[in-house]
Amino acid sequence: MLSQSITLVESALPADRREAGLLLERLLPRTGGAIRLGISGPPGVGKSTLIEQFGMFAVERGRRVAVLAVDPSSRATGGSILGDKTRMPRLALEPRAFVRPSPAGEHLGGVAQRTREALLLLEAAGFDFVMVETVGVGQSEVEVASMVDCFVLLAQPGAGDELQGIKRGIMEVADIVAVTKADGDQLPRARSTLHDVSAALRLMRPRHTAWAARGMLVSGLTGSGIAELFDAVMQHHEALAGSELARLRAEQAVRWMWAQIDDAVGAALRSHPKVAPILASLESEVREGTLTPGRGAQRVLGAFGILFVDSTAG
Ligand code: GDP
Repeated sequence: MLSQSITLVESALPADRREAGLLLERLLPRTGGAIRLGISGPPGVGKSTLIEQFGMFAVERGRRVAVLAVDPSSRATGGSILGDKTRMPRLALEPRAFVRPSPAGEHLGGVAQRTREALLLLEAAGFDFVMVETVGVGQSEVEVASMVDCFVLLAQPGAGDELQGIKRGIMEVADIVAVTKADGDQLPRARSTLHDVSAALRLMRPRHTAWAARGMLVSGLTGSGIAELFDAVMQHHEALAGSELARLRAEQAVRWMWAQIDDAVGAALRSHPKVAPILASLESEVREGTLTPGRGAQRVLGAFGILFVDSTAG
């Protein structure tokens, strides 16, 4: 039933959207009980290996764990998450765990929205942890950070002192940065990367008054650092529990309402009978520099019926 419900919220068909809305409304009072955990990092950093270890660790301690993947299916960037079940073979077989394969990438725009809805379904189903995995490319990690309580960024042990591949913007939303593959030959490099991560984190403005982002070492292969990561997640939860967590989730809910409004208004505008036919020519005029972006926007909004005065438009 859970799988079917998630399929329902993932559907873009209007009739399914309506039914999904009714389902979510009825389940809403039962949501909110899980620790919402985001796990992000570049392809190959060790996300699935770590999620499997972390998930099993939690399950062995009597917790129920669900895993969702946000897959922007960015084949061009190689960011695609493939075959989730086989990537987490033990967790997929574990009765107290639920691994949901990533939604097909047909409706790219709405993937994050549907993931958020799936997260609520999993919460209503009583999971203690809902882990949302995303490939650290594009916008998806920022979207995931805005739907979870605790955002864990995974970093590769890097050569030298540069933090390879980690964008500053994403470090800023991380609650925990875990340097993966801290085992064997890679341990010294992982330690040096942790040193750089910790230095970078100290320079950042904390997101919460109750929690300062921290770096740590983990190995999904040997399991070392998994207990510490679990403890850090629990400590983060305790630090935020009460008013800060409630405020965070409330802000996220409002942001998601606006994201849906913006999406719907944008879609309505683009397909409006007076707007759709003029878009291509306006775009090319703006591209060629014969029309300013401000004037172009005015013409589109005017055609849509929004009177709009912008003193900065040329
Ligand atoms: P993902 O693409 O981020 O999900 O990364 P995977 O979990 O699939 O791991 C990518 C590769 O790194 C695989 O070959 C893993 O065996 C390897 N790997 C993952 N975690 C570790 C680790 O903790 N230590 C070592 N040495 N290798 C790891």
